[in-house]
Amino acid sequence: MTSTVLQSIDHVRTTISTARQAGARIGLVPTMGALHAGHARLIERAGHHGDYVVVSIFVNPLQFDRPDDLDRYPRTLDSDVALCSALGVDVVFSPTVSEMYPAPPACTIHVGAIASHLCGRYRPGHFDGVATVVMKLFEIVRPDRVYFGEKDAQQLAVIRHLVRDFNVPIEIEAVETVRESDGLALSSRNARLNAEERRLATSLYGALREARRGISEGATRPDAVRTAAAALIPNDQRLRLEYLEIVDPEQMQPVERIEGPVIAAGALWVGSTRLIDNLKCEPPQVSGHSVVVPK
Ligand code: AMP
Repeated sequence: MTSTVLQSIDHVRTTISTARQAGARIGLVPTMGALHAGHARLIERAGHHGDYVVVSIFVNPLQFDRPDDLDRYPRTLDSDVALCSALGVDVVFSPTVSEMYPAPPACTIHVGAIASHLCGRYRPGHFDGVATVVMKLFEIVRPDRVYFGEKDAQQLAVIRHLVRDFNVPIEIEAVETVRESDGLALSSRNARLNAEERRLATSLYGALREARRGISEGATRPDAVRTAAAALIPNDQRLRLEYLEIVDPEQMQPVERIEGPVIAAGALWVGSTRLIDNLKCEPPQVSGHSVVVPK
């Protein structure tokens, strides 16, 4: 099957409303393209639910804090469409910037304290841009279900709040992070790494695993966990750890003590490429229930 590729908002609306009237449930997978097996997992999940699957491919200028990052972001529409077709995607929506923003928007969404740490702290305005484009996509596609990756944990938390705060009647499906065999989380930005950088890049996953191990063995002081985890990032001039934080999964705020489920999240610069990753961590004792720590 070949996916229908549409650039116009009007065409997307009419095509999807025909499907909806025929009884389809609409599943939306928002992406910025340069699709990989992580994106494919989201698309497959939508297919398993029997959704009429819409994949949006849009490199959203509003969410980029650095012009060079926007310019260098990989764009591979032909192979993206081929992958979508192979995965049975019904519609690929790949609007131009002027279709989405015919003029600079007068109204945008401002994300509050949930964006004050992690990526939100280091990429000013990023989550405002994400929330604004996602809300536009929700209005254009009117999906029943949307699929987001846990790879971008803070983004997922922002979207959960967005849907709650604006009473958007959409179900959110979170999809676990897809990794390479050495643990590196798949990312469109990995394509920018040379062989040596690619090798160094796995240290972020190693650090996060160390954090998860410490927490599962009963460490309660975030600072100690962070220090032990950060020590696993090699001392190499090509690497710079931007942050490594232990946050609560709901509000994405650093915790003072680890007493329940948390997320260990990090951002690592590898040369001129910034990579992010995170792991869910659980202490041995969660809210009074004993959790057996595997030996
Ligand atoms: P992006 O194209 O990077 O904006 O990502 C589009 C969607 O794919 C987001 O919901 C991401 O969280 C998700 N995603 C990206 N990489 C992965 C991965 N390695 N595993 C699972 N989901 C991912």
